Amino acid sequence: MMAWSEVPPTAGLPLKSSDFYGNHERLQDAVARRIGTPALQYECSGTVCLLITLLALRARAPDRHRVVVPAYTCPLVALAIHQAGLQTVPCDVRAGHFDCDAERLAELVDERTLAVIPTHLGGRLADIDSAIGVARHHGAYVIEDAAQALGASQHGRSVGLAGDAGFFSLAAGKGLTTFEGGLLVAGDDQLREELAWTSARVVRHRPFLDLRRSIEFIGYWICYRPSLLGLAYGSPRRRALARGDLIAAVGDRFPDRIACHRAGTWRGNVAARASVRLGDFLSVSAAQARRRIERLRRIPSIHVIQDAPGSGSGVWPMIMIVMADQASRDIALRQLWPSTWGVTRLFIHALSDYPQCAQLCSAGPLPNARDLASRLLTISNSAWLADADFEHIAVVLEQAA
Ligand SMILES: *Cc1c(COP(=O)(O)O)cnc(C)c1O
Repeated sequence: MMAWSEVPPTAGLPLKSSDFYGNHERLQDAVARRIGTPALQYECSGTVCLLITLLALRARAPDRHRVVVPAYTCPLVALAIHQAGLQTVPCDVRAGHFDCDAERLAELVDERTLAVIPTHLGGRLADIDSAIGVARHHGAYVIEDAAQALGASQHGRSVGLAGDAGFFSLAAGKGLTTFEGGLLVAGDDQLREELAWTSARVVRHRPFLDLRRSIEFIGYWICYRPSLLGLAYGSPRRRALARGDLIAAVGDRFPDRIACHRAGTWRGNVAARASVRLGDFLSVSAAQARRRIERLRRIPSIHVIQDAPGSGSGVWPMIMIVMADQASRDIALRQLWPSTWGVTRLFIHALSDYPQCAQLCSAGPLPNARDLASRLLTISNSAWLADADFEHIAVVLEQAA
């Protein structure tokens, strides 16, 4: 069945035709100015930003081979760590949350650890201070995964600056987009230079791949509207759900080898023009999320993941909800997931439970990450999700809970 009005799973900043011509700054300069960071490095994906960071840090500390990550995160993180010749060490999360459990983290980080990757998942702020505390104690670096958090600030400045480095994803569906792209940030001048050298050393110009991405980007621009998203996103998702392929339904099956090429300048210029609207877009979407969370708070036994009071302000591509148990989450999803309302799941599995990642991860019990995967669902915070449809979602959640 083709739906004629489909809500995307996250709030992306819609492009306008006027983004395709006219004056512009370079994307990395426009965004750095808006979010108040030192010069940003523009790469072909968030994953490649992470890969470059790991390679640069490995050159600094060649004896350290382990990278500690929250056990509920994007499989691409494990693929990047592997491609950098390093070992992924998943750290179990704390109960009902995506942050590393502080005690487990303290056990896992040691003199063999190259880096810890606290992750600002779904726009929510990670507990960066405990990650930094543990990492510093053992001489490890901190890389903030802010793939889903461009525009978020913590302790008065952009995320990505508290650790040694951080990265933002510009993939389709993550806010500001170049279809595939990433921005890398580092507060320290010396490290910034090393990241630029590393990029110059490992990233090749691949014009045909870039051309393909440009065509995909135009396809994205054409399809990123409620009337066409059913075709581009809704129908493939419903087909994947019908055949029980949940990993495909959330788009988490990736090639084993990460594509690494020069980031497209033309796509960057288009996104730079769109970035003029980023600040307003983020404040309107934060206001919508606040209103909707008020409604969700009237439902007992569901938990909305929010930022710790006083820690800063995250961004709201989606609202993450943890239900009381898997049974009620699955009852709700039976109705909501195939619907056109932008309800879905984030990661299907704990990191080591993805067939693609099992071999890349060190062993260890991950009960809380598995539990989170079994109870989490997300509601799109796109402005295209009408109040009436949001209310339908809330009622389904109420009945399931
Ligand atoms: C999307 C994502 C990445 C990877 O970013 P890409 O730009 O898609 O390569 C890394 N970490 C998290 C948490 C993500 O959501």
